[in-house]
Parts: sequence; C-alpha cells; structure tokens
Amino acid sequence: MGDVMIHRWDEVDYDRLGGLIDAVGFDLDTTLAKSKTPMTRDMADAFAELTHHIPCAVVSGGKYHLFTNQILAMIGDKANRRNLHLMPTSGTRYYAWNGSAWQCRYAHDLSPEDRDAAIASLTRHAKEQGLWLPDDRIWGDRLEDRGSQITFSALGQLAPVAAKEAWDPDRAKKNRLAAAVAADLPQLTVRSGGSTSVDVVAKGIDKAYAMHQLSTILNVPIGRIAFIGDRMDPDGNDYPTAVAGAYAIRVTCPDDTLEAIRRLTAVLSLTTAE
Ligand SMILES: [Mg+2]
Repeated sequence: MGDVMIHRWDEVDYDRLGGLIDAVGFDLDTTLAKSKTPMTRDMADAFAELTHHIPCAVVSGGKYHLFTNQILAMIGDKANRRNLHLMPTSGTRYYAWNGSAWQCRYAHDLSPEDRDAAIASLTRHAKEQGLWLPDDRIWGDRLEDRGSQITFSALGQLAPVAAKEAWDPDRAKKNRLAAAVAADLPQLTVRSGGSTSVDVVAKGIDKAYAMHQLSTILNVPIGRIAFIGDRMDPDGNDYPTAVAGAYAIRVTCPDDTLEAIRRLTAVLSLTTAE
C-alpha cells in the first residue's frame, strides 16, 4: 500500500482542489454536525449551496433516520437533492432522491446468525470490562440493531454530547472492547465507532467500501473524490477513505468543515453555474 495522505483542512489549496475533484464526501458526526444533533443553520445553508456545484455524499456509521434529523430537516428544498447521496451505516445502505422522495436504492444487511453472535459478544465483554453501566446512568438503549450493523453505545443511544465526549477521551475503553469482541467474531469486522460506540459489521464494510460504492454510483474515480472527516487518525472511522485513495481532508469540528465548504464553494462557483 502506498503512502496515505491526510490533508489538514486549513492547509488545503482550494483553488487547486477545485480542479482535482468531481465529488465530495462528508462524515456526519463532528464533521457536518455535533453528534446526533441537527446541523446549524449556517451549515445547512453552506452545505445546500455546495450541492448546486458538485455531487455531495454523506457517509456515516449512523442510521438513516439520523440523516433525516441532522441534515434533511435542516436543508429542506434548498439543496440540489439530485446531487446529494446519503450513505448511512458506512454505505451498506444508499438513499437517493427520486424526484419526489428519498428512496433506498440498496441495503446490505447482516445475517440473523451474525447479528445474534454480535449482540451476545458485545453484551458479554461490556459486562466483563465494566462498560455495562447501570440503567439509571445511561440514556436510551445500549444495543442497537441497524440491520447492516450492530452498535453498542456505552452511555446509550440518546446520551448528551458532553457526557459522551467526557467518557472515553483517549478511546482506550472503546478500543479494548472492540479488540475483545473482534476475537469472538473473526467472520465480521469490529471497530470503534462514534465517541462511545463499538460497531460490528460485515467484513470489508467501512468507509473505504462506501467510497467504492460511491465511485460506482457516480461513475467517478475514487481519486477524484474528496472526503472530509474528523476521524482521520489511523484507527479512526474516516481513515479508510484515505486508504481507498480519496483526497482526505481532516477537520476537528463542524466549524472547520463550514469554512472548508465555503472556500470550496467559492472556487467551484467560478467554474460551475446552475
Ligand atoms: Mg465523525
């Protein structure tokens, strides 16, 4: 494998980037919006504007309904929806606008046996490692069956952002749980997901897989897709996009992404018009 290049968002030459890419992919949590919260009004405006200049995709480990709450409800009909591609659960599902509604174009789900095995292993190891907190200390369900993905969230699906960010800042707890579960499930892929979560998915399903899917959907080479995410460290869930060959751009928060979108839009609006 060749060198993996990660570009800091504030070191990107956007004038040059505009000529290098034919599509832009985005992570959702901590990139377009704070975890599980709607994107800001400023972000919604900027993001919707960008879809009028270049195909945009959002790739997240989260479920489709989060896309509805965090993105679609905020952008309304301001976006060019035919240029927007939604890829929840790491691209195992793909939704596109059919002219009147968002339509699921495919869903690659886990088998019932694999889902049961994943739930059993996550439960056992979380309890053994002291990560199965009392019910009165969590918010919502710990375990979620997303069809193509089983997710364990230590503080529950509905935990407030501040609690989640404080729980495992160095990711040691999550990574330890993921390693133990991975040993039980060699046929599946186990990885640390959002700030408190561990995901189990089919082998080979990560954001690199999503990049390959997107490349096929758009008929654009991966090398001409930019991907913007906050987890571009080698054990982060956005890093596989860089390994797959996308032009990887690292941000630290939605404010960075907003500025990156504005700079890219300024460049593209000189060369494209709708
Ligand atoms: Mg993220």
